[in-house]
Amino acid sequence: MRIQEIFAKKKPVLSFEIFPPKRDSELKDIDETLAILSKLSPDFISVTFGAGGSSNNNKTIEIAKKIKHQYGIETLVHLTCSGYTKQEIDSFISILSENGIENILALRGDKNPNVLEKSDFQYASELTGYLNKSANFCIAGACYPECHPESKNRISEISHLKGKVDAGSDFLISQLFFENEFFYSFIENCRIAGINVPVTAGIMPVINKAQIERIVNLCGASLPNRFRKIINRYENEPTALFDAGMSYALSQVIDLLVNDVDGIHLYTMNNPIVAKRICEGIKNII
Ligand code: FAD
Repeated sequence: MRIQEIFAKKKPVLSFEIFPPKRDSELKDIDETLAILSKLSPDFISVTFGAGGSSNNNKTIEIAKKIKHQYGIETLVHLTCSGYTKQEIDSFISILSENGIENILALRGDKNPNVLEKSDFQYASELTGYLNKSANFCIAGACYPECHPESKNRISEISHLKGKVDAGSDFLISQLFFENEFFYSFIENCRIAGINVPVTAGIMPVINKAQIERIVNLCGASLPNRFRKIINRYENEPTALFDAGMSYALSQVIDLLVNDVDGIHLYTMNNPIVAKRICEGIKNII
């Protein structure tokens, strides 16, 4: 099923994100993860894709096939264009079509300084336009409530996002954020700019300090003081930090639901217990 049809029928749409493990030996862990995630009845599960020629990308396709055909859950395959030629993109999309995959998250990907730049597409909007014209997928795009780290300012960010949506994005998934006000003001700016597709909110429950510092450095999301205090207070007490991180994420999710968000996209980091705790916390709400 095309995910845009799910957004047309229900609100909020619940989705999870997982990534393919680096080692083949860890593939069985993905089965255990999917067995738990599938019982939580998400509307779709997305699978990440390595930027710039990662050798791990065959696993993305294998895992997406499993989600769709073995677990009967809709899937969204991330596809990055940085570091790939048009011919390589064509080959990925024909494999996806042959395997009944209907949904692609069209991304540029982070530029890898160690990979020779040979991209035929410079921005995600170009990949989106190409997919829209040459294939028949539901296309998602990424968006950034606190601005993409490379953006000059919010105005150019929103104007490029509008270009991406006009090129064919059917819905958007946001970068993670820890302050809902950023998301609400971003949505307002999108609507003013005429970006009217559904926007699902990316939420990452934080369960350890090193993980969050690495991620925040990478994506530029800011940590509100009240959340930083929680992390500092419990950094050496893993179970306390787990509980506090879960409660923080849950309070963000409930506030988003109260404010009629189009969807919640949980960055699970392949930890199904995290998704389970959040789903249990909203089972009588959603
Ligand atoms: P774009 O939409 O191309 O934007 C990148 C930057 O270029 C922005 O600053 C934008 O404002 C600017 N820009 C866009 N168009 C123009 C233009 N015409 N002229 C000038 N500037 C322009 N990375 C992975 O490697 N694998 C994944 O699976 C993955 N999944 C992700 C999932 C989500 C939900 C999100 C939010 C991010 C994900 N990423 C992933 C990270 C993403 O690839 C990076 O954030 C990357 O740097 C930007 O990708 P994009 O598709 O948003 O790029």
